[in-house]
Amino acid sequence: MILVLWDIDRTLVYTGDIDRRVFRETFTSVVGRPPTALPARGTGITMPLAVRELLRAHEVPEHSVETLAARIVAELPGRLSGYREVLASEGVILPGAVAALDAVHQAEDLIATVVTGNLRGSAETKLSSLGLASYLDTTIGGFASDDPHHPALVRIAQDRAAAKHGGLFDRTNTVIVGDSLEDVRTGLEGGAKVIGVASGTTTTEQLRAAGAHHVLPDLTDTVTLLDLINETHAQTSVGPRYHRLSRNPDVLFCYGTLRFDAVLESLLGRVPQKKPATAPGYRAAALQDRVYPGLVSDEEGGAATGVVLTDLTDKEWHILDAFEDKWYGLQEVQLSNRERAWTYVWTGGDVRVDDWDAAEFEAQHLAAYAARCARLAPGLAAGRPKGE
Ligand SMILES: [Mg+2]
Repeated sequence: MILVLWDIDRTLVYTGDIDRRVFRETFTSVVGRPPTALPARGTGITMPLAVRELLRAHEVPEHSVETLAARIVAELPGRLSGYREVLASEGVILPGAVAALDAVHQAEDLIATVVTGNLRGSAETKLSSLGLASYLDTTIGGFASDDPHHPALVRIAQDRAAAKHGGLFDRTNTVIVGDSLEDVRTGLEGGAKVIGVASGTTTTEQLRAAGAHHVLPDLTDTVTLLDLINETHAQTSVGPRYHRLSRNPDVLFCYGTLRFDAVLESLLGRVPQKKPATAPGYRAAALQDRVYPGLVSDEEGGAATGVVLTDLTDKEWHILDAFEDKWYGLQEVQLSNRERAWTYVWTGGDVRVDDWDAAEFEAQHLAAYAARCARLAPGLAAGRPKGE
């Protein structure tokens, strides 16, 4: 089975400025004045994040941002459902979308749902108003209402699909079809092959440069689209996470707890050779209720600092791979010195807007964390994952 995750806006449908009209109405009602700026077009950013950004752009006091954002997010789907007739008359189904949706829906070994920056209610209103709901199983989709961090929605959809259909869905049998850079990032970080569609505001070249595995100009070539989806197994079937490490580069970029000698010593019984390194375009984000960070894309152009471990033995790679839990996806990154390295990017939710504070971790948590690592080490060395 292959799980197909469709993006909605500018991939399947174009609904003009209806979202922006609904946003204007909701913002005015909640904040008490009309907005002077509206969500950017075609970025694919999730609605909760867009709303927070806009509240800050309107200089709403920081202590009110979360409350007002929650109210706006709660109201948006209901208000959009009042626009069903407008959506049906002004909304456009993009060329080839119906045939493509139908072909995927009919294929016995494909499961189709959505991963979208829309809130669940808004997504369902758009799809049903335009007659597309029957092609997609939205009960197993990933929506911005599930988590504002877009890449986390892939895992959510994979888990829902697995619960309903059995089996296991990961990046070897999941494909995302979408039009924006955010969709590409969502696939790469969240764990899915990416088929870019240049039907939005992002060009073929931009989608390719961001890492899309394939790019189509639109959805009109159903045969090619199905071929690309069905190639998913062949292209990305790489077995367990560690097996990818048998390819170069042979260094590991560490941005979190593995930067600390005490943690390395506890896990490996020695401190491998290491040197400082920086990964542009990423940040080590603080994670809700966890003392360790997760590496995520940094849209603001920052960089994650850390170290690369350069002389790990095969056995040590196995131990570190067992140490990282299922929410960490192994991925290659380019460092600021242009060398490449493996690293574990965060694919889960609970990503905070603030960066992880390494000094605070060192002062408050390192000793206990290293002691826990020392207790885990024998099991990891014996090949047992540490579990959650
Ligand atoms: Mg889109």
